[in-house]
Amino acid sequence: MEPLHARYPFLEQSRAAVEAAAVDLGEVVATNEAVTTRALERVESAITDGTIGEPHRRTRVELLSYPVARVLVSLVDVHICTRRYAQAEAATAYERFTEEFATTTELKSTQSARLDRDELLAEFDLASAVREAGDGFRVEVGAYLDLAADQRGDAWRLVNRALADGWVRVTAEELNVLLKQAIRHRVTEGLPFDVPDAIAAELEEEVEYLQEILSDLDLTREIDTVVPDLFPPCMKALLDQVQKGEHLEHHSRFAIAAFLTGIGMTTDEIVDLFQVNPGFGEEATRYQVDHIRGETSPTEYSTPACSTMQSYGDCVNKDDLCETISHPMGYYEQKLDDAEEDELVDWREDGESEDEADA
Ligand code: SF4
Repeated sequence: MEPLHARYPFLEQSRAAVEAAAVDLGEVVATNEAVTTRALERVESAITDGTIGEPHRRTRVELLSYPVARVLVSLVDVHICTRRYAQAEAATAYERFTEEFATTTELKSTQSARLDRDELLAEFDLASAVREAGDGFRVEVGAYLDLAADQRGDAWRLVNRALADGWVRVTAEELNVLLKQAIRHRVTEGLPFDVPDAIAAELEEEVEYLQEILSDLDLTREIDTVVPDLFPPCMKALLDQVQKGEHLEHHSRFAIAAFLTGIGMTTDEIVDLFQVNPGFGEEATRYQVDHIRGETSPTEYSTPACSTMQSYGDCVNKDDLCETISHPMGYYEQKLDDAEEDELVDWREDGESEDEADA
């Protein structure tokens, strides 16, 4: 096990090094507290601040903490945890390799823990899909689309790129971002997986600890995009009823108002949206929304969980994704995460919202 493996544990050669050392993960989690502690730190930091924490000084502990962290993420089995974990691993690797790419070649030859661009491209089978050109690089369009798909921002859209003979022009910095994406895909691959009961039993406390952190997190914190097409079926149905001017029970009104507040809509925007409804009373709606937001009450109310929605009969048209989540916010977050850039047109920027069209 070499320092390079500990710095880049997602590499094929790092996995092979763990395998060659005939490490029994069950035994590691049962006997090696340093590894379990570092693995927990990896996941906790990923969830809370987008990093993987400070590396352990011992190469073996640092490297083994990676597969154990993956076991923890699998046991927690919550989309936001998996996503943040993969993002944090990729962000750390990105920081490391960009620094190493910038280092001169002489230095590199004396530092075995360093990685160069060609090695990283080869790791992801990109050697023939990327070529150097005078002013930067060219990436084969298929590889580009795969790696740029999750990037936010118009600049990444293919229509805005210089494309010639199936090759997309990118700068060295952009290529680094695409490599970060390849790493994120690699880390995400296979997660979550089934964990043997004996290992799960050893990690019970750590998993509970992570679950507590997750439940304290404000899941709505990062969501401020309004894309009704991606709403969970229950909220689509409620929004549809609002727009058709149908009467909504108090609990249903509360659920849709809390959801829209949670995804970043202002009181005015929600009031506007409800205005098409004949049963709508502007003052009452404004009061209710402000109340949910915590402006006219000491409490900020959040969107009801699926179990509450079900008990009120507001859970309708469940789809496959519903089977994997427990909260409408979790559903929406996953949809946003999986969406292509061009699907993410915010209703408020679109100017084509249904209420405007109907007005
Ligand atoms: S399972 Fe949850 S997200 Fe899906 S429709 Fe029911 S309440 Fe909505």
